[in-house]
Order: sequence, then C-alpha cells, then structure tokens
Amino acid sequence: MISPLVLEEARLAHRAATAGEEVVKAPSADNHGVAHPSDEYHAVPGVGDGRPAIADIHGRCDALLASGWRRVAITAQATESGESLPIPAYLNSTSVDRVLIGGIHGREPAGAIALSRYATRLAELGRDRSILLLPLLNPWGYSRHLRYGPSGQSVSDSDHRLGRAEAPACPEAAAITAFVLDTVGINPGAAVLDLHEDPVYEDPSYHLEGHGSYLYVSGDRALEHPVARRVRRCLEASPFPLIKEGVTRFGERLVDGVILDTEDGSIDELLARKCRCSPVITTEIALRGETTPPLPERVATYLDVLDAFFGP
Ligand SMILES: [Zn+2]
Repeated sequence: MISPLVLEEARLAHRAATAGEEVVKAPSADNHGVAHPSDEYHAVPGVGDGRPAIADIHGRCDALLASGWRRVAITAQATESGESLPIPAYLNSTSVDRVLIGGIHGREPAGAIALSRYATRLAELGRDRSILLLPLLNPWGYSRHLRYGPSGQSVSDSDHRLGRAEAPACPEAAAITAFVLDTVGINPGAAVLDLHEDPVYEDPSYHLEGHGSYLYVSGDRALEHPVARRVRRCLEASPFPLIKEGVTRFGERLVDGVILDTEDGSIDELLARKCRCSPVITTEIALRGETTPPLPERVATYLDVLDAFFGP
C-alpha cells in the first residue's frame, strides 16, 4: 500500500508542476519530539509555545451555549490509547451567513486559540448575525504538533466533493465536508474566515522572503468585498504586514500579498465553489520556528482580524 505521505508528496509535486514551479517536498511528519500524554484532551501539549489544552479551547467556546448556541459533534479522532478527541461545531442558526474556521493544521495553533478567546464577543455578535464556528478541526494534530490527522491526510481535504477524487482523503474529511454541505445551511454569499499559519521552518530548503502574513481570497468579486478589504487593512497595520511578493511552499505566487481563487482542494475552495461563499479568506502568518514569532503576538493579531472580519 502506498503511504498517505507518499501520496501527499505526489500530489504536492503535481500541484507544483502544474503551477510551473519547482517540485516541493511534503511537510515533515516529524513532530519535534512532542510526547502524547495519557489524557490528551485535558493536558497542555508539550510544544512549549504556550498553547492551552484542547479542553480549554472547547471550554471557552462552550460559554456560547448560555447564549442559545448549539454544540454539534461533527466527528472525533481516536488516539493510540483509545481516547476520543471530539471535533465540535458551534452555531446559533440552522442557516448561517458567517463561518469561522481554526485548527485545521496542528502546527498552526493561533487561530484556534484566538477563536476560543473570541467566544464572549461572538455571543454578542450572534444576537443579530447567524454564525457557524469550527474552532479546532484537528485536535489530534494540535496536541502532537503535527500538520495532519492520524491518517496522515488533511482533515478537511475536499477533493472528493470537488469532483477530483473518488473517495474522501480520511474519515475526518468525509465528516467535515458532509457537515458543511449537507447538515448545516451555509447561505450563498456567506463570508468565511479560516485562520491558518505557515510553519515555513518545516522545510529548511524553502525560503520565503520577508516577515509577516499573506492571504488566500476566493469567491465572487471577493477581493473588492468590504470584509476582505477590512481584513487586508487590519493585517497591513499589524505586526505581520502582508508579504507582497513571493512563492509559497506549494508553488502559489503571491500578488500584492494575496493568492486569488486557488484550486487547492481545501474546505475554503469547497465553500467558495459549492456554497457560493464570498469572500472566503484564509489568513497565513509565516512562522520561522515554534515560538518565532511568539504565539501571544499571533493570537492578538488574529483577535484583531476577527474584529475586522465582523466590522464596526
Ligand atoms: Zn495551514
């Protein structure tokens, strides 16, 4: 059997080749020696970057329940010791106009932490807005400091729902894509914010010039949308201004700090194409190491980005 990592490497190579760029390597599966404790759900991951326990992320989001939000179990990830790490969604309506996503990749904790700390504000914003919150889609990877889930695949890979793959990449991908397409109603024109980071230190042979952030933006006239404009302005004014030019590890070229309408098989592409969401905004902060820049600065910036996303 071909290992998922080999397949991912082939896929990345194909993607890079079709983009006319050099072949890039798959992200490392080395988790930098992070141990997995017996009670992974409640333990602080041993990364040393200050990220809280999974239970802390969910606990802060659970505060929304007092404001009439619902918590729905999308699926769960099993650990070697038989522990089950839940992947919940929070929503305040059966159809939503705003979607917030965090924690797809395990080495990119700032988004999940910022979303959980934003829960008290979301309770207020939710009084007159319909919102879906997916705060931590890959708790297994978050606690072990690994990009992908237990099967070595992106937990929200959407190629099977975009007509590019026969089968889902992994069980989480099947459950998460079914949830957003079939279970919850995401209205056309809904705005999406997916908070990532780019751990460029994974690949010592790769070099991204500059310090700061960049964006993926997708959807109908997404770049001109007021929400996208506000998020761009917010990052420009942050400690992580947009890196205007360059090529990502995945062979995508930045134009004025943005990659427009990418075809990367992500849940963001799925939301733009299948749910007609716009703008779909994916934020990235370049990371030179686990604590470079420090996690609290990245979380603070993402809290500002959330304010910008919702607007005055
Ligand atoms: Zn990511």
